[in-house]
Amino acid sequence: MSSRRDRADDLRELMESEGEAIGGNTQLINQLTAENVGSFDRYEELREEARATKEAAIENLPDLIDRLEEAVSANGGQLHVAQDAADANRIIEEILDERGAEKLVKSKSMTTEELEVNDHLEPDYEVVETDLGEYVIQVADETPSHMIGPAMHKSAADIADLFNDAFDLEEPLSDDPAELTEFARERVGEHILDADAGMTGANFVVAESGSIMLVTNEGNARKTAVTPDTHIAVTGVEKVVPTVSDLQPFTELIARTGTGQDITSYVSLLSPPVDTPIPDFEADEFRPAEERDFHLVLVDNGRMAMREDEDLRETLYCIRCGACNNACANFQSLGGHGFGGETYTGGIGTGWEAGVHEMEGAGEMSELCTGCSRCVPKCPVKIDIPWINTVVQDRTNRDAEPGDFDFLVDGLTPDEEPSGLDLQKRFFGNIETVAKLGSLAPGLANALADTSLADWLLERFVGVDERRDLPEFAGETLREWYGARGPRVDDPDREVVLYPDLYTEYFEPERGKAAVRALEALGVRVRIPEVPESGRAPLSQGMVATAREQAERVHGALVGHVDDGRDVVIIEPSDLAMFRSDYEHLLPERSHERLAEHSYDVMEYIYGLLENGADADALAGPAGEGEGRGDERVAYHSHCQQRTLGVERYTTAVLEELGYELRESDVECCGMAGSFGYKSEYYEVSMDVGKRLRADLGDVAGEELVASGTSCRTQLDALYDRAATHPVELVAPETGSR
Ligand code: SF4
Repeated sequence: MSSRRDRADDLRELMESEGEAIGGNTQLINQLTAENVGSFDRYEELREEARATKEAAIENLPDLIDRLEEAVSANGGQLHVAQDAADANRIIEEILDERGAEKLVKSKSMTTEELEVNDHLEPDYEVVETDLGEYVIQVADETPSHMIGPAMHKSAADIADLFNDAFDLEEPLSDDPAELTEFARERVGEHILDADAGMTGANFVVAESGSIMLVTNEGNARKTAVTPDTHIAVTGVEKVVPTVSDLQPFTELIARTGTGQDITSYVSLLSPPVDTPIPDFEADEFRPAEERDFHLVLVDNGRMAMREDEDLRETLYCIRCGACNNACANFQSLGGHGFGGETYTGGIGTGWEAGVHEMEGAGEMSELCTGCSRCVPKCPVKIDIPWINTVVQDRTNRDAEPGDFDFLVDGLTPDEEPSGLDLQKRFFGNIETVAKLGSLAPGLANALADTSLADWLLERFVGVDERRDLPEFAGETLREWYGARGPRVDDPDREVVLYPDLYTEYFEPERGKAAVRALEALGVRVRIPEVPESGRAPLSQGMVATAREQAERVHGALVGHVDDGRDVVIIEPSDLAMFRSDYEHLLPERSHERLAEHSYDVMEYIYGLLENGADADALAGPAGEGEGRGDERVAYHSHCQQRTLGVERYTTAVLEELGYELRESDVECCGMAGSFGYKSEYYEVSMDVGKRLRADLGDVAGEELVASGTSCRTQLDALYDRAATHPVELVAPETGSR
């Protein structure tokens, strides 16, 4: 309990101190990247190419490293492969010792952060960061908070205060960003002039030529690489690609996804040691290029093991553009310091931390992934980042020690899950069991849930935040209603299975009834069989074995219907995402494909029926049969996973065709994301994210408030203190009867 409270306190503090700067910066970058990618026709094609190149490069990595070694030594440099951080630091120190170096300048490199090169060298060497953000972090003695914007959590005023405190200045600096940049540039420039060695990272390394590619916006990396006579490039083994031509898709994508630029200000392709003379500023002369020394330190540090790990392997495809950090709604509130991690943070940071550091930090970070999946279409190499977070959660769960209160929830632990699993996870991961029990006596369950004792118990033992309203059990489940009513279409053109998702079945059958009425009005006969919960609930708690078992049961319950030609229609977008994408990890390929091919979002299905000649007048609309039950103006928030799947447009199209006037939110997420917003440690983060949705949608007076996801609707209810409607309820004709 106290650790939940401590976590909530820490996160609140970060939201207050760093949230504004992080939120402003990430949202601005998102806007720029969306505009750039939106007008770039080749985005998807190049993503495919980039992905294929990385897949092949990681597959052939040992061979590529051998080829690279030959090329680097043919160029006159030296390649070192470091097994771990200690090995890499030893190699670097030996190089500096051999050259008699005292001062090292560095350009930005996450790999050297991972190795903690500065901490290792600083007792004996002067080490100066030359990237503006890294310089700020070094002066502040902090850690980076973002993969490409290490000081993103600081405002210009914070940086002015920092510099004014750190340096003995005649005139204090103002918070004008240009003045601050100029100040740092001058200081850093002086250090580069008299450094003995320069250390860079490498965004990519080319095996055939020994070239390294540096992608920057400040030009400091190329100065660091070529001004001193010794250049040490430090990078992970995963950065190697076979040929120069393989760089093309990455060069096109990295800035577009990272900063919204077509290309960064500086793209340097060096095959060191470079053959330009060495400037000696003290002697005011140039020394011959032959005196240059180049060392490429390729770091393994867990990467070769990641390569063998089916689930973490994808992490190695990452080109560190930072887009997943920016896309993450929780990151926009908290920044990297909230996500934690020894080096990497946010989104893909979980995979990196699990691979190169300890699982402990990675596990905590993975808890902040709500699985909203908005990072997936933003990733230039198509990494399934939510799955990596799920896998890390699962592994963390498995390392858990049995807890004091295990006996309380024995029935909520399937055999495949470890006994020490956190009670909160067991509760949310097995919510179907809770729902089934509650719906046996819904009146009693609702009355009990409404007491302060229940609030206290749930917060105390399960970590359900008291400030959240619990959903109410319906007096009658959807299947009970349908069982008593039966189908109403005698001679159907089509027959479908309506998937009775957990929330529709037990808590809100009204939206299920609306789906039945809408489909029947368009001539479709509906069946509602008994099908288990999709596995979304356990998956969101990192309980992969339980999710897999559920997926197999769902497949077993539905595959016969699919074989008989029935499509599966789904009301809840997070369940549609299970069928279409998450089951890829949980079911055999053919089973997943079979379900994915025949599953549809309910509004997508209605759209398809209308496109194929069904009569739109049979549905309700502002000017139709259902006149008066909904306002003609609609404020609509579509579910994250619906947007990732690209099916949100069907809701918009149907509502517009029926005559509704639509306004849509385009913030990344409502902040709720299923169980996340119920957890007491994350409730305030969830509401902070929700505030952006509230600001985006604004005043909704006189409008129907519409959201497709259960979690979004719960969040909107809390943000606006009024109920939101599922879109299918807006279009379903009223029958006046059951
Ligand atoms: S996972 Fe993808 S989006 Fe995130 S930093 Fe890596 S390449 Fe960029």
